[in-house]
Amino acid sequence: MTATILDGKAVAARVKEEVAAAVAEMPTPPGLATVLVGDDPASHAYVRGKRNDAAEVGIRSIHHELDASITQEELHRVIDQLNADDGVDGILVQLPLPGDLDGEAAVERIDPGKDVDGLHPYNLGRLVLDKPGLRPCTPSGVMRILDHYGIPVAGKRAVVIGRSFLVGRPLALMLAARGADATVTLAHSRTADLPDLARSADILVAAVGVPRMVTAEYVAPGATVVDVGINRVDGKLVGDVAFDEVAEVAGAITPVPGGVGPMTRAMLLVNTLQAAASRRG
Ligand code: NDP
Repeated sequence: MTATILDGKAVAARVKEEVAAAVAEMPTPPGLATVLVGDDPASHAYVRGKRNDAAEVGIRSIHHELDASITQEELHRVIDQLNADDGVDGILVQLPLPGDLDGEAAVERIDPGKDVDGLHPYNLGRLVLDKPGLRPCTPSGVMRILDHYGIPVAGKRAVVIGRSFLVGRPLALMLAARGADATVTLAHSRTADLPDLARSADILVAAVGVPRMVTAEYVAPGATVVDVGINRVDGKLVGDVAFDEVAEVAGAITPVPGGVGPMTRAMLLVNTLQAAASRRG
């Protein structure tokens, strides 16, 4: 293998140390509220992980577990209470919500200043406007890992495969934002000649949800490859990138697991700290 491994686990550990140090300086720790609806085991595991991360860095967590039979109005009432609670700096509603509950409406109900997932239209709008705000955790994690390893971004060609509002679209905006200054192409399932396009990238990001779709054919020699995908295949976690063959061509690559996943979790803590700091002036 020739590629440098971009070790998200190690960078996330560093980010967590920084957050813990900043939290220790605060007169009262930030509070992160998690709202979990229903009994989906994966959602329970994600929220448990996020609460453990918070505890590790000294962030207080406030947890609400709600029955899947809750109505949208009842869910909104819980969010309203958390919006009004001065001890809560960040609110995270674990998505997807079960049944007919509307996740987007729930996120819109969150006070944008407490929207630590960075998915409220207000915060996404600030991103479009290139103004400071709470940014979505996964794209922020990608930017942070590139920065940590000193991967040049300004003036480089980036291709992001996947245009979801959760990952691909905000990441494309962040790569193209003033200060990052990449030239970005946002690709998706209707993109023509995708392998050719991908091969034009200095930085190639796969946020697709198709196991090992990005093969060596997609990658220019020396390119940086960021694999956002998390797919379970035969009980094993695999990314959207065919790691073994791509690592022979790429200059740098994030592994799965241990790449973007830990960064996403760490950036939630950064956002909670940021929300607390700006709420407290
Ligand atoms: P979505 O399903 O919302 O979006 C997938 C995107 O990929 C769509 O834009 C779709 O195109 C595009 N796509 C699908 N198939 C192809 C194809 N064959 N060729 C090109 N483009 C294609 O997924 P998410 O963005 O939410 O997640 C993407 C992956 O990232 C998943 O594996 C998910 O589990 C993972 N993930 C990982 C996180 C982490 O922390 N590491 C956090 C969040 C997600 P179109 O729009 O045309 O349908």
